[in-house]
Amino acid sequence: MWERCSDMTRDASAMPVSELRGVGPSVAEKLARVGVENVQDLLFHLPARYEDRTRVTPIGALRAGEHAVVEATVELTEVAFGRRRTLLVRIADGTGSLLLRFFHFSGAQQNALARGLRVRVYGEARRGKASLEMVHPEYRAMRADDAGVPDSLTPVYPSTEGVQQPRWRTLTDQALDLLRRDAVLLPEFLPHEVLARLQLPTLHAALALVHRPPADADAAALLAGRHPAQRRLAFEELLAQHMSLRLVRQRADHARAPVLKAGGRLVNAYIESLPFALTGAQRRVLDEIFADLKRARPMMRLVQGDVGSGKTVVAAAAALRAVECGCQAVLMAPTELLAEQHFRNFDQWLQPLGIVPEFFAGRVKGKARAALLARMAAGDTPIVVGTHALFQDEVAFQRLALVIVDEQHRFGVHQRLALREKGQEAGWRAHQLIMTATPIPRTLAMSAYADLDNSVIDEMPPGRPPLRTVVLPEGRRDEVVARVHAACAAGRQVYWVCPLIEESDTLEAQAAERTAETLAAALPDVRVGLVHGRLKPEVRGRTMQAFKDGALDMLVATTVIEVGVDVPNATLMVIENAERMGLAQLHQLRGRVGRGSEASACVLMYRAPLSALARERLGVLRDSNDGFEIAAEDLRLRGPGEVLGTKQTGIAQMRIADLVRDADLLPRVQQAADMILLAHPDRAAPLVRRWHGGGERYASV
Ligand code: ADP
Ligand code: MG
Repeated sequence: MWERCSDMTRDASAMPVSELRGVGPSVAEKLARVGVENVQDLLFHLPARYEDRTRVTPIGALRAGEHAVVEATVELTEVAFGRRRTLLVRIADGTGSLLLRFFHFSGAQQNALARGLRVRVYGEARRGKASLEMVHPEYRAMRADDAGVPDSLTPVYPSTEGVQQPRWRTLTDQALDLLRRDAVLLPEFLPHEVLARLQLPTLHAALALVHRPPADADAAALLAGRHPAQRRLAFEELLAQHMSLRLVRQRADHARAPVLKAGGRLVNAYIESLPFALTGAQRRVLDEIFADLKRARPMMRLVQGDVGSGKTVVAAAAALRAVECGCQAVLMAPTELLAEQHFRNFDQWLQPLGIVPEFFAGRVKGKARAALLARMAAGDTPIVVGTHALFQDEVAFQRLALVIVDEQHRFGVHQRLALREKGQEAGWRAHQLIMTATPIPRTLAMSAYADLDNSVIDEMPPGRPPLRTVVLPEGRRDEVVARVHAACAAGRQVYWVCPLIEESDTLEAQAAERTAETLAAALPDVRVGLVHGRLKPEVRGRTMQAFKDGALDMLVATTVIEVGVDVPNATLMVIENAERMGLAQLHQLRGRVGRGSEASACVLMYRAPLSALARERLGVLRDSNDGFEIAAEDLRLRGPGEVLGTKQTGIAQMRIADLVRDADLLPRVQQAADMILLAHPDRAAPLVRRWHGGGERYASV
């Protein structure tokens, strides 16, 4: 059946809502505001909640606080002129009487509600002066041939100004009707086997149920979004999301990539030259990478590893494999500061092997820039480390075989996909390695990174000293300052992280300046440096370098130090207003200490009073040092939108599915995707189109 969906005139997504009864240009415009433009949108516009209007309650049995349907006769209608003009309507049904109050009403409404009229009313009963009352209930005049109360729960739709609930109901009635008469309007894409295995209803049955649940439907499950009909729809949406990335991957798999196979002279020399042995996890991940690089199709691999797990060391080995094969590699970092640090590490590791890495960023200008660009284009730069400036149009490589992206979650899905377009200069597509220190909970990885293979460095280098985290109120600042003093006196170094001020980085910088002054005044024998986002990169870089060289004892910083600086002698970090920051961010920050051989500590200061949620979040950090555990908690406490960052809106803003509530479906989503790609590959693209309207999100790929 479903093949016929190519007949666009019979596709619910090709039928504008304006073709429905009662939808003129003005209503159509209002519906568009909530994303409802065609019949398919309407069918996927699900009720936010349900009301039980299947029973009529006698007024005498009504209790305050209860939502109920009442059928009664109008006894009296009058307008009261008190503080507010109010239409009062008294109705009675023989068991008692009820007062209806309307603050907004028309003359026509007042006239229609004449004594003797039979009405059916739905609303919440409240205690009034003399009797129970309902304020602005929904009501309808009853006719002799009235059909009676509905036998299904009444849906309440998310709406927008000017579209009332009855309108949504007549519209969805029409849409469901169309679907009943012409099933092809919305074809079933899920194979029977999948539905049977998951015990989920068909698409049409699911839609009919969520829009018009029968009276005996499990109302509690519906309200919780856990009814099989809702899960069926969420499942399909998750599947479409997953599938869109799988298709991206499939296309990429057809591209040709350079085969990087070599004896390993350079790689081995490098590994032997390191002052430590690789951990088992580093070796395993490196093997996974080398296996990918040997293939003629591009590697697309995500390497996750907690801060300090040794990702950069692995990245350098991967880059050397490209160099061994006579090709070029680049490493791109999200900030100049981090790029510079990577560059210094690479330089230190690789120079002894006779490989000279280059640095490229916005601030490399003039002749130096031109010369470097020329050498990159000529294939004379084995390894370039830099920022996203590397992906400007003017940058070309002769034999770029490997692109390494650090901290990729900051770049977002779109940028990641756009990146793939680069590195095609040599008539091939470069291999791609993405490193992230923000562990991504498995469930999210499956849906947001379905196009990537996954490697995890799940082991820390041995001999790392313990890191203790304490949570203290702002009121104990003096104690904290004394602790800072003691650490500096013992020859250690300290980070002091100032509050995040999202609204303004000027204010944030000013606050940091004041903090630095106050601390310097309180601790005259401590050498205090300051870095914040308003400083020129050179100035910031110099201060960071001075801290790294031990010429400063304490570094006061805004969150700019979050990514990647490596100072083994720093053993104490103080974070102010920790309650305002995300868990993942705090975990990243504190990963800056405990990089040397000394025991370290992190003090999370908060401003009282602490909300229950903030208390719980800081508690998670105090009790765990495991990035994955923290990420999972973060996801639970804040939701996927926050965890992935706003750039990932496509994943965070799903219409029906909820990555936390529906996480248990994800493994099944993956299996279903495998199955469809194998047995019904032609369903994949239409499925993605259904949920991602034309797929323009991935159009660049
Ligand atoms: P990441 O990028 O994952 O934060 P790095 O690669 O920057 O981690 O490594 C953090 C620190 O640990 C660096 O100083 C690095 O030299 C060191 N290191 C990396 N791997 C090992 C290892 N296997 N044994 C000991 N130290 C290591
Ligand atoms: Mg790193």
